[in-house]
Amino acid sequence: MVRTRFAPSPTGYLHIGGLRTALYAYLFAKKSGGKFILRIEDTDQTREVKGAVEVIISALDKAGIHYDEGPIVGGDCGPYVQSERKAIYLEYAQKLIESGDAYYCFCTKERLGALHESGATKYDKHCLSLSKAEIQKRIDAGEPYVIRQNIPASGNGTYHDEVFGDVSVDFKDLEDNILIKSDGMPTYNFANVIDDHLMGITHCIRGVEYLMSTPKYNLLYDALGWQRPVYIHLQPIMRDAAHKLSKRDGDAGFEDFLAKGFLPHAIVNYIALLGWNPKDTREKLSMRELIDSFSVEGLQKSSSIFDETKMRWLNSLYIKEMPAREFHAAAMPFYEKYIPNKNIDYAYLSELLQPRLEVLSDIRERAAFIDSFDGFDLELFVNKKWKTSIDMARDLIDGCIACTESNGIGEALEKLAEARGLKKGQVLWIYRIALTGAAATPGGGEEMVKLFGKAEALKRLETVKARLAK
Ligand code: GLU
Repeated sequence: MVRTRFAPSPTGYLHIGGLRTALYAYLFAKKSGGKFILRIEDTDQTREVKGAVEVIISALDKAGIHYDEGPIVGGDCGPYVQSERKAIYLEYAQKLIESGDAYYCFCTKERLGALHESGATKYDKHCLSLSKAEIQKRIDAGEPYVIRQNIPASGNGTYHDEVFGDVSVDFKDLEDNILIKSDGMPTYNFANVIDDHLMGITHCIRGVEYLMSTPKYNLLYDALGWQRPVYIHLQPIMRDAAHKLSKRDGDAGFEDFLAKGFLPHAIVNYIALLGWNPKDTREKLSMRELIDSFSVEGLQKSSSIFDETKMRWLNSLYIKEMPAREFHAAAMPFYEKYIPNKNIDYAYLSELLQPRLEVLSDIRERAAFIDSFDGFDLELFVNKKWKTSIDMARDLIDGCIACTESNGIGEALEKLAEARGLKKGQVLWIYRIALTGAAATPGGGEEMVKLFGKAEALKRLETVKARLAK
């Protein structure tokens, strides 16, 4: 059975590049009826952020990427949090020491610093030659140590990556990396191998930054007599041709996009296509369709550039097809943020806005008209296209009030235009400006009356009347 995993470090933040890695691993597993596992890689305790695991779990949940095994839900291969697996790593590190594939290293920071200063590009295997007795003596004396991988001095490591093809690295270019740190915690270089094997991972899907270090991991698989997984390395998401989309850009986080008013699935849909294509022209795909169409052959070897305009467009398609109630519920927090406590029919505002938004935070701009009325510039009555003027507004204002009081406002406005020998558009312009004081509104005058209520609409028209009379 296919088993894939997502193995984030808990940094308090889920980068959309990470989310895409999770998504591809999920799609790949689900397509073949396999399992998707979440593993938390928290062995770098200096980077530990409180609540970070919850951030990841909640983000995956919102994105609709459901894991079969992992923290909280458990599974047969747990624990799924690396800091709880310390004893396991130590056990395998011992085995590697016994077979000569790893060794104790007592070198101090000072010695390593001096080595580096002298021009060495990697560790010089200084401690590899220590005798067993010497090692024991130093451990017993409480000297701090690390455990390093013993990389062969010559030869090369070759493997096949499903995206990049055959990859080959000379062992002389690899360093004897630390497997176990002095605090007893494993490094990524060690833990990823132990965990992927013990968790039965068949396909290892991760960022391309691990492409060239994978031969090192393969040496560990071989030393322990384990089968290597299939490797699928992914290109990063770029901000532009030269830069990765990074946290520093301020908006590379999944949660940042949600806060901007992107819908979770629109983000998922968009990033699915950033680096993979279904080999047809479809751009809007449900999770089910993504699962059904996913294939490793569709993964791109080149990196892709993030295009927020495109994601906004895709998001607008999802917004338009939301059930009205659901849209209203999603819009509510944005009303609370940008236009709280207004005397308007918010549910009706949702009806007006739903077809007009690309992202929910557009509400800020689209609803600005609600606050435009007080003291608006009367020059707004002047519209070049419609050839309207302030004088025309003055002549029409009583008529506008009468129309508002009538039962069929649209029809009444039409009759008013006819009676005055004006174009309908001229009267509608004057009417809408008189009600809102805003050049752009989501809907015409009649909709604005419905939004504000008849009483408020009449009050506004009277105010304008008084202003025009001066
Ligand atoms: N913890 C690693 C990272 O966040 C995971 C890499 C992997 O998937 O193996 O980059």
